[in-house]
Amino acid sequence: MKIADTEEELIAPEIKEPESGLKNFIRRNISLRLVIQIYVVAVMLFAAWQFYGFYEAVQGYTSFAPERPAVVEGFLPIAAIVAFKAMFVTGEIDPVHPAGLVILLIVLLTGWIFRRALCSWICPIGTLSEYLGKLGKKLMGRNFNIPKWLDIPLLILKYALFLYVIRAFIFLPAEYAASFMQLPYYTVSDVKMFELFLNLGTRSLAFIGVLMLLSFLFKNFWCRYLCPYGALVGLLGVFSPFVLKKNSETCINCGRCNKVCPSKVNVQGKKSLVISTECTGCASCVAECPKANTLEFKFLGIIPVKPLIFSAGFLVAFFGLIVLAKVTGYWESTATLYDYQMLYNMLPSRGF
Ligand code: SF4
Ligand code: SF4
Repeated sequence: MKIADTEEELIAPEIKEPESGLKNFIRRNISLRLVIQIYVVAVMLFAAWQFYGFYEAVQGYTSFAPERPAVVEGFLPIAAIVAFKAMFVTGEIDPVHPAGLVILLIVLLTGWIFRRALCSWICPIGTLSEYLGKLGKKLMGRNFNIPKWLDIPLLILKYALFLYVIRAFIFLPAEYAASFMQLPYYTVSDVKMFELFLNLGTRSLAFIGVLMLLSFLFKNFWCRYLCPYGALVGLLGVFSPFVLKKNSETCINCGRCNKVCPSKVNVQGKKSLVISTECTGCASCVAECPKANTLEFKFLGIIPVKPLIFSAGFLVAFFGLIVLAKVTGYWESTATLYDYQMLYNMLPSRGF
């Protein structure tokens, strides 16, 4: 394996010129990613404002009830998991919180095909974590690194917790899941969750503050060590039909791929396939590699795929499936405002 010893070697004629438009593409891609991230955050903030109006109407504080934004069900992962399990008995998509289940199914499908693209393009918590890290770097001049002796145990802990949830899902009797969905709490779980966030105590706020501080100090802290959704799509993405391939014959071991990778994947150290539960498929390493055709995305390991096609495929699949769910009636809940008011009043005034 040839190793670059000098700076001259890195810019020697055999080294690829920036591929036609690739750098430009990455620049465009990153700015498109930013636009999508801002769009998703704006949708979430608008949904929170709308849901607040709905929440007040449920409590009877106002006679005007804005439409309940179904997208809030994306924050009910436990309800979605239960509904997924119940689907094995009923064979139906839950009509009370269909959007939550649809979002879970989209996460599973796109996570398998497009790895953790969801984390870098869509997830608002991932966006917050990313920009806290960038702010930390700007203000402190750098982000700190978690030492290796702690990095691996923290990753193991994340996947151990995730596997515990998977185990609970597997052993949860489907009949029990179906009967849980008949409880009043299940229908108003979005309102109860919202109420919980509106009434966070000092300890909860301190906990959130600590998480934000960790994301400020350590790049990608939330996504790398804590997020259960990240763990799910990360594991599924290992089986993605899009593989990142490295040609060790032409690699000059310059280390640029490792330096640019936001997920700290050791691309340089891989022999052929770059397989990692942390890879978001962002293609930064592909763009940064100075040797032509050394790092490439390949469909089924054979057909080279431009990063643009990969990203566009993910966005079309993600938003296209949501539109499909809306058009086919698997997005809006069948529960009415009256149902919510009645069931909400049957439960304790605070808590569950
Ligand atoms: S830089 Fe490469 S290895 Fe790192 S997350 Fe992006 S695509 Fe994956
Ligand atoms: S694969 Fe990584 S180490 Fe090898 S040439 Fe490309 S950027 Fe450099």
